[in-house]
Amino acid sequence: MIDVHCHLNFHAYAKDYDDCIKRAKEKGVETIINVGTKIDSSEKAVELANTYDNLYAIVGVHPHHADKLDEVILEGAKRPIESQKGDYPITPESTRFAEAARTLQDDKKDWLKKLEQLAKQPKVVAIGEIGLDYYRYQSNGIVDPDTQKEFFEAQIELAHRVNLPIQIHNRHAGKDIIEILKHHKNLLKTDFPGMFHCFAGSMEVLQDALDLGFMIGFDGNSTYPGLAPLETTSLTELAKHTPLDRLLTETDSPFLTPIPHRGTRNEPSYVIIVGEFLAKVKNVSFEKIDTITTENAKKLFNIKD
Ligand SMILES: [Zn+2]
Ligand SMILES: [Zn+2]
Repeated sequence: MIDVHCHLNFHAYAKDYDDCIKRAKEKGVETIINVGTKIDSSEKAVELANTYDNLYAIVGVHPHHADKLDEVILEGAKRPIESQKGDYPITPESTRFAEAARTLQDDKKDWLKKLEQLAKQPKVVAIGEIGLDYYRYQSNGIVDPDTQKEFFEAQIELAHRVNLPIQIHNRHAGKDIIEILKHHKNLLKTDFPGMFHCFAGSMEVLQDALDLGFMIGFDGNSTYPGLAPLETTSLTELAKHTPLDRLLTETDSPFLTPIPHRGTRNEPSYVIIVGEFLAKVKNVSFEKIDTITTENAKKLFNIKD
């Protein structure tokens, strides 16, 4: 089996990532893909992939971090551009903001340049996790949707430049993500454009994602009873409607630990539990799920044996 989305590159595994990798292998999880959420965690994912034969990396900036490059500059940079639209006299203050805006532009180029260098490493198999997260935005107000969209689009363009698929993070933003993907359809890989990781949302968004050629990942939260906050369609229903040749298994470790381990740290070996859930929902054997999800992941991420 393959865990196509986890974070052994996070601090939660600083002491025992090696044990986790060994445990996964013993259980039959032969391939693990670690995913970055910022530049430093992307670097770590690449470092791990370069250390272990069966590990690969996905690099990108998560929507939660889209405004963390330099918050002060970003905040300042917004005002001068607006004020310069009117006929306001150039004051020392607006000059300073204009200066800040230029610095922000430089920072951004720098950030993308670093990511592009990482993306060209041989064991990097996709750009991710990228996308939109309106759930956290609504609850914490941390990253405004426009900034998230800007970062998402910049990374879709990057994926196109380096010819890699994308791994999408979506939380309560399915409609906007689909709209952006349709708008940039010419930038998506034509064979396998990418995947929605940890899928949740409406049947309509699922159908749109499938129509665009995307694969769909499920995690340990599919074993939780009931519906997650603000969700209307169960993960069981969504998995049922996902064709076998589009299914992927993942853990999002250290998060979303499946039952019966819920409440403890998640790890890639538990992706087996996700496979068992999918086998039940799709009414096929575990072996069938094991084979087909492994094949799907290898096709999508161009992983050779
Ligand atoms: Zn995510
Ligand atoms: Zn994740």
